[in-house]
Amino acid sequence: MSDYVKNLIAEVKAKHPAQPEFHQAVTEVAESLDLVLERHPEYRSAKILERIIEPERIIIFRVPWVDDQGEVHINIGYRIEMNSAIGPYKGGLRFHPSVNLGILKFLAFEQVFKNSLTSLPMGGGKGGSDFDPKGKSDLKIMRFCQAFMSELFRHIGPDTDVPAGDIGVGGREIGYLFGQYKKLRNEFTGVLTGKGLNWGGSLIRPEATGYGAVYFAAEMLGTKKQTLEGKTCLVSGSGNVAQYTVEKINELGGKVVTLSDSNGYIYDEEGINKERLNFIMELKNVRRGRIKEYTDKYKKAVFSPLDSNMDHNPLWDHKAHCAFPSATQNEINAKDAQNLLKNGVYVVSEGANMPTTIDGVNIFLDAKILYGPGKAANAGGVATSGLEMAQNSQRLPWTREEVDSRLHLIMKNIHRTCVEMADRFGTPGNYVNGANIGGFLKVADAMIDQGVV
Ligand code: NAP
Repeated sequence: MSDYVKNLIAEVKAKHPAQPEFHQAVTEVAESLDLVLERHPEYRSAKILERIIEPERIIIFRVPWVDDQGEVHINIGYRIEMNSAIGPYKGGLRFHPSVNLGILKFLAFEQVFKNSLTSLPMGGGKGGSDFDPKGKSDLKIMRFCQAFMSELFRHIGPDTDVPAGDIGVGGREIGYLFGQYKKLRNEFTGVLTGKGLNWGGSLIRPEATGYGAVYFAAEMLGTKKQTLEGKTCLVSGSGNVAQYTVEKINELGGKVVTLSDSNGYIYDEEGINKERLNFIMELKNVRRGRIKEYTDKYKKAVFSPLDSNMDHNPLWDHKAHCAFPSATQNEINAKDAQNLLKNGVYVVSEGANMPTTIDGVNIFLDAKILYGPGKAANAGGVATSGLEMAQNSQRLPWTREEVDSRLHLIMKNIHRTCVEMADRFGTPGNYVNGANIGGFLKVADAMIDQGVV
């Protein structure tokens, strides 16, 4: 690593000491960009890296709301408007008790590169709240969403900043948020993506992140003239991304043997087939139950509760060919990465954002497996949000086939960009460098074109 990048990382850590996830994301990207800065001194003199790590704007606000028993609650709301060089800020909202400024800054930073990779005109942003939707009634969720939007509405708009869902924010929450925005602004616009089909949403948007991560894995396997047919896959999470990852793996002939939530994971040696996935979707999206209940219905499956005293996650310690982490950040540490390799896994396609620690990533890179980092592998979600924005602007919905074929093409193009960039900068097969450099160049050039703003 050059002294320049070392100093930059040290400065970020000194300036923002309590943001370890943000340090992690910046370190990974800056290490890749060392290769670029050597060849392109113009980025250094324009201080592109120093600028790109600073959000253009951070909005933090109080979210006071009253629940159905009349009790007053206060949460914190955030929106990080990270970079608008190539389009309006775009990125999800996360509702989870762990949400803080550092986590949202890491997500917004990653989003800038991811959105650029899609080749659609979208800048990067992210937001959310420390509100915990788990176990709350629909009425409580609605009241919170309305209170959250009562402040956020003045900062967003279809040409300014277009939020979407993320952990804890699905179709229900987007509906309540959109309803409140429409009431306050008195206008019907494409200000959020992930909308319902009857009111401006796009077909395939719910499926897109999971499908995209599987398309990306298929492209990586294609470089070895292989397919997903007959491959055993480990998937974590059981939310939006995990569910559609399983659906697409099944469609392409693979077998999924694990899923999880924050209480533990299930292992089903027989495979989570279509019927079992339907059970999960009903359990998680309608009854809003826990993954453990799967083993009440499918007796041969085994549930293991999460044990936070363990130094590894046993979900990653099963024989398999492929892994699709689809829950949350840092869910694969160095020991997990070693366990995956030991068990024969040679394809990792990240549906979640930054699910692997830096040590874990280095283990994958040293082993030269097919490792697709989140900002490339899970870009299908935001890409399809971009397609939703295009349909909203045209006021014309596209067919399922049209959206899916565009999504598939975008994932193929992202894969090709990663491969070409990794080659061009002397690290063939390194999708981390490929994604970071591919995402960076377009934004950096746009920032130079637009001057110091
Ligand atoms: P989701 O529908 O809310 O599902 C999240 C899943 O992960 C749930 O099963 C949840 O379990 C589990 N989980 C969350 N936090 C956890 C923790 N700290 N420890 C263990 N399990 C945890 O969210 P999602 O949309 O699928 O998002 C999953 C990941 O994909 C996130 O990293 C997100 O940033 C990324 N991503 C999402 C999209 C998208 O379009 N939705 C796009 C790109 C990337 P519980 O229910 O028990 O909390």
